[in-house]
Amino acid sequence: MTDRYAVIGHPVSHSKSPWIHAAFAEATGQSLEYGRIEAPLDGFKRASDRFRHDGGKGLNVTVPFKAEAFRYCTQTSARAQAAGAVNTIVFDETAYGDNTDGVGLVTDLTANLQFQLAGKRVLLLGAGGAAQGVAGALLDAGAATLVIANRTADRAARLASQFQPAVACPYESLQGKRFDVVINATSAGLSAEALPLPAGLLHPGMLAYDMVYGRDTPFLAVARSAGARTSDGAGMLVEQAAESFRLWRGVRPPTARVLAALRSA
Ligand code: NAP
Repeated sequence: MTDRYAVIGHPVSHSKSPWIHAAFAEATGQSLEYGRIEAPLDGFKRASDRFRHDGGKGLNVTVPFKAEAFRYCTQTSARAQAAGAVNTIVFDETAYGDNTDGVGLVTDLTANLQFQLAGKRVLLLGAGGAAQGVAGALLDAGAATLVIANRTADRAARLASQFQPAVACPYESLQGKRFDVVINATSAGLSAEALPLPAGLLHPGMLAYDMVYGRDTPFLAVARSAGARTSDGAGMLVEQAAESFRLWRGVRPPTARVLAALRSA
């Protein structure tokens, strides 16, 4: 029987993961099937158990189940523990949970965008699941400072205290501060909402990165008009998927052609 994988979420119909993993399988000569599971909001465990019982080998987990997936797994990686969230499950004798969002972002920044994080001043916007998944990886990659700003200030404070030496800073106190890269890990761009960023925060010579992909968000538009270099999160999406594929299949697929095809689609 062909090995089966799937992405589980709610909603999940928009997910590009089946397409990405089919492209990886073709590029590496691996035989596998990859589908979508839209679980009811109270049905993550039931749907995952059924998939595993039917022989499923692994899952990608997306919104809103990443924290529940962390509790579901019987073993977890150090980076999943740091994030308190799982986006990749490997089923064998255990249900092993990992989080590949952080390595996906760092690989996109350093390998695809040629932006080295070592010694850089990093501003992370947002304190939800995505921010939580990448904060540790940004520090591990050598960021000199990591400042976290979030609409709900106490969530930023909690996240910063988990990832010392990160510090929290309210949006209104960002005035006059200088960063080499600003990473937007909020979902504001999905609803085309602008963030309350002070004038001058985004400037020429810096990188402005939005984890949202496939659309021109207000954040990216403001950054571009301020002269900053910009990127959406398509590369992070492909690189985190490549790391999931490596965990499942033991081979890391090449990503450049998949990323180029995703961007031109
Ligand atoms: P989440 O847990 O729901 O968190 C959403 C975050 O956005 C919170 O910090 C929230 O602030 C903030 N936010 C939402 N609307 C806002 C607004 N209008 N103004 C200011 N802040 C706002 O979501 P998530 O899982 O962290 O995902 C965040 C985004 O990252 C999503 O758009 C997702 O698609 C993207 N993502 C991309 C990848 C990739 O591979 N490219 C991977 C993971 C996630 P409050 O705390 O104040 O509510």
